[in-house]
Amino acid sequence: MGMSQVIQNNPTADDDEMPVVATIVCPTCSGIVEADDKFCPYCGAPQAAPQKPEQPSAPPDRHFRCKNCGAEVAVDRSQRSYVCPFCDSTYVVEFSPELTGRQQPEFVIGFAVTPEKAREIFERWLNENRWFRPADLKAAALSEKLRGIYIPFWSFSMLARSTWQAMIGEYWYRTETYTTTENGKTVTKTRRVRETEWWPLAGRHHQFHNGYLISGSRGLPQELADRITPFHLAGMRRYEPYFLAGWACEEYTINREQAEAISRQVFEQWERNEVAAF
Ligand SMILES: [Zn+2]
Ligand SMILES: [Zn+2]
Repeated sequence: MGMSQVIQNNPTADDDEMPVVATIVCPTCSGIVEADDKFCPYCGAPQAAPQKPEQPSAPPDRHFRCKNCGAEVAVDRSQRSYVCPFCDSTYVVEFSPELTGRQQPEFVIGFAVTPEKAREIFERWLNENRWFRPADLKAAALSEKLRGIYIPFWSFSMLARSTWQAMIGEYWYRTETYTTTENGKTVTKTRRVRETEWWPLAGRHHQFHNGYLISGSRGLPQELADRITPFHLAGMRRYEPYFLAGWACEEYTINREQAEAISRQVFEQWERNEVAAF
């Protein structure tokens, strides 16, 4: 599994148009570098003079559906054999994406970790967690299977308009006189009594919510996706098919309506928390 995500943004939301820029991959760290960047924003490596990325004219991806686990993945056309990156099954069929009616990704966050670096981190993790590894399993064999894959996410924007009402209370004290019986005699005493005066207060709260990513993959439950945060949203670029070159890309299996329902719940909770904190 990779550490990168494909963003599908809600096209009906009035999001700011992102400028379309020619995109280049840093040769040192595979981060996404803009054409006129002299240095990589991720690793600082100096970049070659601006050049146009070659954009293949034919659609560069092939789509496979795993008959074993149901994952659907796009790979670039140069990849001949295909193994499911989720369950390692070779029992896959090619299908035509036009038939599924899925929408294309709109944004992509490119890989910031090279395959070599990922392998290094994974092997270190295996060494630190020896209890986890079955005795006959070689770390080398496992890390050979590390593959980068883009994971689909949904992203929505919501303008929340809330009205709130509250009762504001203010304390004040008065002194009252009372009589009581002490040692068989009636005596007069005073005491302070706290009173509360209430008045109503109401207001409106407008807030634009976005930036919550909903997993589009059934293989990545939302609880796990939430643990990946924060996402490197600043690295988000307009999707172009050549981003796929050398990587695999999972197709979404959580559809837009399902993702929107989850997003709505989260934004409504945010909105309640903000209004309550006011
Ligand atoms: Zn770099
Ligand atoms: Zn599979």
